[in-house]
This record gives sequence, C-alpha cells and structure tokens, in this order.
Amino acid sequence: RAKELGKARCIVYNQMAFDQVEHDVSMEAAMFEAVRNGEFLLHYQPIVDAHSGQIMGFEALMRWMRPDIGLVSPAQFIPMAEENGLIHLLGAWALKAACVQLKRFEEAAGRPLYVSVNVSPRQFRNDQFITTVDDAIRLSGLDGHQLLLEITEGILMADPEHAEQLLTRIASRGVRIAIDDFGTGYSSLVYLKRFPIAALKIDRTFIRDLPDSVKDAAICNVVLSLASHLSLLTVAEGVENEHQLRFLSAQGCSLIQGFHTGSPMLPDAVIEILKADAEALQN
Ligand code: C2E
Ligand code: MG
Ligand code: MG
Ligand code: MG
Repeated sequence: RAKELGKARCIVYNQMAFDQVEHDVSMEAAMFEAVRNGEFLLHYQPIVDAHSGQIMGFEALMRWMRPDIGLVSPAQFIPMAEENGLIHLLGAWALKAACVQLKRFEEAAGRPLYVSVNVSPRQFRNDQFITTVDDAIRLSGLDGHQLLLEITEGILMADPEHAEQLLTRIASRGVRIAIDDFGTGYSSLVYLKRFPIAALKIDRTFIRDLPDSVKDAAICNVVLSLASHLSLLTVAEGVENEHQLRFLSAQGCSLIQGFHTGSPMLPDAVIEILKADAEALQN
C-alpha cells in the first residue's frame, strides 16, 4: 500500500512538473499567435496631483486577453516576452498605442495630459528603440514632454555608457525619464547625478505601511526631500487609502497613483471620467 502510494505520488508529482513545462511551452506558442490575433491591450491607470486630486496623466499597463482563459497579468507574460524577443514588437506597439490614445484622452478632457509607458531592459538595449520613440511621437502628434518612459534602476547600471547616450538622445526630444520601483533595485545616487532623470516612482513596498511604519515614513521622507532638492517629480505607487495619500501629500509628494485614486481601466472608462471632470469644472 505504502509503496503504491509512494508511486502514485511520484506519478502525480511528475505529472505536475510535466504540466508546468507544457503549460509554459504552450503559453509561449500562444503568445506568438496572440500577437497575430491582437489579444494584447492596454489599461490606463490615472496619476493624480497629490494636492488637487486632478488627473494629470496615466500609466499604460499591458494586458493579455486569452480566449477561454481570461486576462493574463504582465508579471507573467512580460518576462517571457523578454526571453523570446517578442518584447520588441509588443513594446513598440504599446508605445505607439499609448501615445495615440493620449490624444483621444486630451480631446475628452479639453486640457493637456501625459502618458507613462514601461520600457523593459531588452527594449532599452535595442538600437531601434530611439526610432520607435520618434515614430510614436510623430504618429500621435504629441509633444515630447507629454511622454514619460519608465525604466528600472537595473537598466541604468547594466551598461551606464549606453544608458547615458540613449537617455541623452531621449531627453533631447523633450521625453522624460522616470525611475520605476525606485529604491528596490541597485539604488545608487550616482545615476541621479549622471543621467537626465525627471521623475522617481516610489515603490509600493515603501507606501504600503504608511503612515504607521516609522521606517517607511523615514524612507519616503528622505526620498521626497532628495527629489525636491534635485527638482525631480515624485510619484507614489500603490496608494490604497486616504491615510497614505494625506501623509504623502504633506511630505511634498507631487503625484499619486493607486487603487485609491483610480485602478487601471479600459480607455472608454477613462474617457467617461475625463468628460465628467471637464463638465464639473465648467459648472
Ligand atoms: P509597474 O510598472 O510598477 O506598474 C504598477 C503595478 O502596480 C501595476 O501592475 C498596477 O496595476 C499595480 N497597482 C497600481 N495601483 C495599485 C495599488 O494601489 N495596489 C496594488 N497592490 N497594486 C497597484 P500590473 O498592471 O500587473 O503590472 C505589473 C508590472 O508589469 C508593471 O509594474 C511593469 O513592470 C510591467 N508592465 C506592465 N505593462 C508593461 C508594458 O507595457 N511593458 C513592459 N515592459 N512592462 C510592463
Ligand atoms: Mg511602471
Ligand atoms: Mg512601478
Ligand atoms: Mg512596481
């Protein structure tokens, strides 16, 4: 009996491992198919002024709508796209689509807005990337400063020479650079000095336990003060309640992003909100 059980377990275990591998392989194949079928889409999350609450811009967040399965999180498919190279295609599409979409958002709002787009390490290393940025701006008719590119700390330190060249070219278009998940990577103050950085996005892990956590409060305080002295914009990520919002706003944080002020949503929902805001302002 015990022997049989052991065997059965072993089989079950192997079956699970097998499913895991098969799942990833089929997910990979499905991904190429999905690009052809247009299964990828962007959600937009509002980024609001910490004092007035007004929507200033949006972060474009990629989603994969798999038929029969549902929405797949970018945490699952972006790393895979990085590996198989599809990130170039998906990333370029996201950049263009987000810029074009922002134009429609502006029409609904009747005022200027900005859009923030994530750039992965492999995209950043590609020589074609600057051309993609130029295309997105030209195609959409946006001003360069209405586009923010989010990169992580690791990208900068992997190849500082390349990063400096590329960021300088990007900045010459007026496009701004934000450090995403600030404080979680290879944090180094050197890059704040060396590269043309416009904004810091304070990672959710430092925001979550505000304002009670003494350590997180101290870290946010110092980052906000540093940013202010360097004339950098600050965006707090993952703000989920009024207490966090009040603390951050009092400490001089410029912008807020999180479920408390708006979840990622489809373009139609964004347009509804912007139109309602514009009407409220007129009355
Ligand atoms: P990220 O750039 O740091 O994006 C913020 C993530 O936090 C998003 O997850 C967003 O939905 C989530 N979030 C926003 N507000 C809150 C909140 O109040 N509470 C909590 N718990 N979460 C919040 P999402 O959309 O699942 O994206 C995960 C990551 O995938 C992104 O992290 C980004 O690194 C990557 N990603 C998303 N879209 C793209 C893309 O188009 N290109 C690339 N290269 N990466 C992308
Ligand atoms: Mg981001
Ligand atoms: Mg982030
Ligand atoms: Mg993050």
